[in-house]
Amino acid sequence: RNRLTMKKEKTLGMIKPDAVSKMGSILDLIYLSGMKITKLKMCHLNRNEAFEFYQEHQGKPFLDNLLSYITSGPVVAFELMGEGTVGRWRELLGPTDSAVARKENPTSIRARFGKDKTMNACHGSDGVASAARELEFFFPSVGPSRKNTAKFDDCT
Ligand code: ADP
Ligand code: MG
Repeated sequence: RNRLTMKKEKTLGMIKPDAVSKMGSILDLIYLSGMKITKLKMCHLNRNEAFEFYQEHQGKPFLDNLLSYITSGPVVAFELMGEGTVGRWRELLGPTDSAVARKENPTSIRARFGKDKTMNACHGSDGVASAARELEFFFPSVGPSRKNTAKFDDCT
């Protein structure tokens, strides 16, 4: 890849509840990939929030399972930045179904840390437009949540 022509992108990654205990190993892999973690937070979604996040899956047969799973414990959401990051993060994740990932891409995150086709360790935005929406969901740029952003004097 050519650094001068590759476009810098942002994407939203999320460690799902089943893999939060593996976050150290997963963050190591991201660091080694060269992608930059520019924002990160741990939070526990309620069902309404999870429904908003996964709105594209309204009507899918697995939605109810997915919402129960994603609200079953905390998640770690992060912004990744770099050239071709949307595709590179998806590549690092591997196929949706962890069993398929173990066959097709055994070094991928879902192969190593996922369990099955629902509990698959991590999320990644599937395009630039969904990345923008999902980043705004976890890291809103305007609005009331801005007031809750930690100030430097919180740390003194
Ligand atoms: P991806 O996360 O690879 O983009 P999708 O957007 O299709 O996959 O699905 C969102 C999430 O819903 C998946 O990561 C997985 O946790 C769950 N899921 C997807 N397909 C199924 C399925 N057929 N059965 C159960 N859970 C599924
Ligand atoms: Mg998806």
